[in-house]
Amino acid sequence: SHHKLRAKFPVDDRKVDPAFSRKQKIAEHRKSLPIASVEKRLGDEVRNNDILIIVGETGSGKTTQLPQFLFNAGFCRDGKTIGITQPRRVAAVTVAKRVAEECGVELGQRVGYSIRFEDVTSGSTRIKYMTDGLLLREALLDPYLSRYSVIIVDEAHERTVHTDVLLGLLKNVQKASLDARGFSEYFGGARAVHIQGRQFPVDIFYTHHAEPDYVDATLITILQIHLEERPGDILVFLTGQEEIESVERLVKERLQQLPEGSRKLLAAPIFSALPSEKQMRVFAPAPAGFRKVILATNIAETSVTIPGIRYVIDPGFVKARSYDPVKGMESLIIVPTSKAQALQRSGRAGREGPGKCFRLYPESEFEKLDDSTKPEIKRCNLANVILQLKALGVDDILGFDFMEKPSRASIVKSLEQLFLLGALTDECKLSDPVGHQMAQLPLDPIYSRALILASQFNCLEEMLITVAMLSVESIFYAPREKLEEARTAMKCFSCPEGDHLTLVNVYRASNEFLEKRTVGLSKEKNEKILRKWCKENFINSRSLRHARDVHSQIRGNVEQMGLRLASCGDDMLQFCRCLAASFFLNAALKQPEGTYRALASGQVVQIHPSSVLFRAKPECIVFNELVQTNHKYIRNITKIDYLWLAELAPQYYCMQN
Ligand code: ADP
Ligand code: MG
Repeated sequence: SHHKLRAKFPVDDRKVDPAFSRKQKIAEHRKSLPIASVEKRLGDEVRNNDILIIVGETGSGKTTQLPQFLFNAGFCRDGKTIGITQPRRVAAVTVAKRVAEECGVELGQRVGYSIRFEDVTSGSTRIKYMTDGLLLREALLDPYLSRYSVIIVDEAHERTVHTDVLLGLLKNVQKASLDARGFSEYFGGARAVHIQGRQFPVDIFYTHHAEPDYVDATLITILQIHLEERPGDILVFLTGQEEIESVERLVKERLQQLPEGSRKLLAAPIFSALPSEKQMRVFAPAPAGFRKVILATNIAETSVTIPGIRYVIDPGFVKARSYDPVKGMESLIIVPTSKAQALQRSGRAGREGPGKCFRLYPESEFEKLDDSTKPEIKRCNLANVILQLKALGVDDILGFDFMEKPSRASIVKSLEQLFLLGALTDECKLSDPVGHQMAQLPLDPIYSRALILASQFNCLEEMLITVAMLSVESIFYAPREKLEEARTAMKCFSCPEGDHLTLVNVYRASNEFLEKRTVGLSKEKNEKILRKWCKENFINSRSLRHARDVHSQIRGNVEQMGLRLASCGDDMLQFCRCLAASFFLNAALKQPEGTYRALASGQVVQIHPSSVLFRAKPECIVFNELVQTNHKYIRNITKIDYLWLAELAPQYYCMQN
């Protein structure tokens, strides 16, 4: 009888079906975006102009809507794809998910994304989000990017090195939001469309004095807002994963000290290494009565727009790449933001209504900030980019039409590095086969070279694992309150030769564990068991899982190239010699006082306490990473014999008496 009743008085679907009302909400949201009013005009302008510059306030709908407009306007009718590049992996993934939902399609079908080591697209993908670096790699195989009808270079104002190179290439191919004038001039007076934005007033607050500990100041501000201000979510800009995780923990601790009724605060982190299902959590509204505090890196400045923000906390720092062309050393350092960044951050508080921004430094400091951030191409090692340009047939790097030219010194230094690695000939041409092989691998040139050498040293199996493990965030996980236990756990894997073989041990131990325990189990069960194993052994399970993915992809690459996948077995010496031959540019000698001198740069460095060689302090080492905090620390270190350097890298070292 129920059926009859329904047939006679059909219930309004809209009221009972949550999926339907979500769809309707999304449709309404889309219509309300500033960009919606210029849909037709944008389609026409893109059709009539080879190059178009689109400028619009963050959140106006450029990233999510424009590709859909173009799709609807018929830009994919001939089976071609609309490609949208993003400087950040997180943005590519989260935006693709959102747009798939808006289109009501499954991710990986009409809408997909592709980032290094992860491709969620198919033959039917027509709207493809990807990192700018990935499109550059595609250009190696398809220099005219012929599968695309439109390329949208999103976030071009961020000026990552890949974006800059991509713009140079696109300009070449075509010879055929910030400073639109700069872009427009570069593209010979290209047409620009400005989308009218919406911005509510944001009150800016400064501290009276400089804060000695901005993490602590951040915590106090979060709790103050939570206890004293009207409802509305908080967005906090921090510099990286470690800082975010420690603030997340501290927020939880402090909440426990508050009366029960005041604990309705929910921390949601977002940073690039966070698994993507967790990244999506920042977009979910907080449960009724709760306030959300989003702990983000600068990805929340412009690349992803999070709804519901009314308060912004800006400690004023950002982690940035920095490169010293004289020393040939790249490092990550924490530096003050630029004025443009500070303004962009505070603007996030005024998207949906008037907001407040708390800058955790005195107003006098703001005046001292640089106006805008230097393009990355001016502060990074160019070896990778140059290798790719060479592979694309661009031989005259100094003459390449960059939007902003890197300094001659840094181009020359990177060319020299590539030459020393054997990628370039005396005439500065890509060498055959080494240079071509190196350009094919999606890795830093130094790691690509290591894999090629390893196939000659019969230890490619070990080197593949090493490179995969070095390509992810920290494998070991040592929470402060369990430091001793973590150290003991690490000892089971540690190898007296150094960190590289220690990482190989971890990887192999996880493999053995899985082989023994998981025969015939489902994938989910498998992952769960591995997570438990990781926890017991103080291993970061997310990093390990990522390393396993990276491993399987580069394994595919080297097999395709025909490299010999052999293991050196118990012959550690062979592997260490291969490390010396590969990483000779990062060799260091012990000094009398226990510090080290990096041979290439002359810098004085110290072994990081997390290294298995921290106490042993061998005479001569190679390392992979320089971290600059109060000290110059080196990480991922292996002991070598200094005589090997002259033997294995004679292009760089010779014996003196
Ligand atoms: P722009 O690229 O111009 O900065 P976007 O296209 O990224 O703007 O965002 C347009 C709107 O869509 C914003 O108001 C934002 O709040 C909303 N939005 C984007 N991604 C999501 C998401 N994953 N969940 C909910 N809303 C989103
Ligand atoms: Mg955008």
